[in-house]
Amino acid sequence: MEKKVVLITGASSGIGYQTAELLAQKGYKVYGAARRTEKLSELKEFEVETVYLNITKEESLKAVVDHVMDKEKRIDILINNAGYGSLGAVEDVTVAEAKNQFEVNLFGLARLTQLVLPHMRAQKRGQIINMSSMGGRLTTYFGAWYHATKYALEAFSDALRMEVKSFGIDVILIEPGVIKTDWGIIAADHLAESAKGGSYEQIASQKAQGIKKQYTSNWGSSPSTVAKTILKSVNRRKPKAR
Ligand code: NDP
Repeated sequence: MEKKVVLITGASSGIGYQTAELLAQKGYKVYGAARRTEKLSELKEFEVETVYLNITKEESLKAVVDHVMDKEKRIDILINNAGYGSLGAVEDVTVAEAKNQFEVNLFGLARLTQLVLPHMRAQKRGQIINMSSMGGRLTTYFGAWYHATKYALEAFSDALRMEVKSFGIDVILIEPGVIKTDWGIIAADHLAESAKGGSYEQIASQKAQGIKKQYTSNWGSSPSTVAKTILKSVNRRKPKAR
């Protein structure tokens, strides 16, 4: 039987890395994409093909899809996992930073989806797995901009699911809670940095320390648990093309 072809973003670390490894071990042909190619190259050990991607750049997105299509002639599963959290008070996060979060967590993902969909429609099948968060359904202190990206992703995914179902394509949302990856460290650093010298500095700095502690302690789940959830999702019943 032909191996199913998977393209996964954010494969250089955390959830994406574990998922790429697990799916490759389970017999999928996996293409792992991210900017840090030195981290990606560790996945070669598990026979994951690696490819450079900056999700905020149109030419990079096109190059990735062209590369996989040239090699495999199809993409069965797109896992839109790349993302980050830039926590901070609404007043403190610059609009440029807020926009970048939307570029990575929503617009880049949406553009990649646009580029993959024509191929999935031609195949009359496909799965799009979008990495949202528990934070796509509830909000936390200093998370306004991050939550806004994930709430938007939930709405985007729910609406897209209706549009593409009749082409045999499913759209699946994954909504993890606290998962021990670099996400928490990056989010905490953004939080502390954004608050420096401002009205929220004291509480933001305490919160940032708390987040770092949470993400480095035994609290929270390992990224491999999310990888297993994704594996279950790719195995679930697919809609039939009409
Ligand atoms: P990591 O920081 O370990 O991974 C984030 C990945 O996103 C990296 O591989 C990074 O690759 C990639 N990425 C970031 N910016 C870009 C970009 N501009 N272009 C391409 N790739 C990019 O965190 P997680 O594994 O935890 O995060 C994965 C997803 O899970 C995210 O969408 C996150 O919001 C979500 N999530 C995480 C939770 C958690 O508690 N950890 C909870 C709920 C959801 P590189 O820097 O090499 O480009």
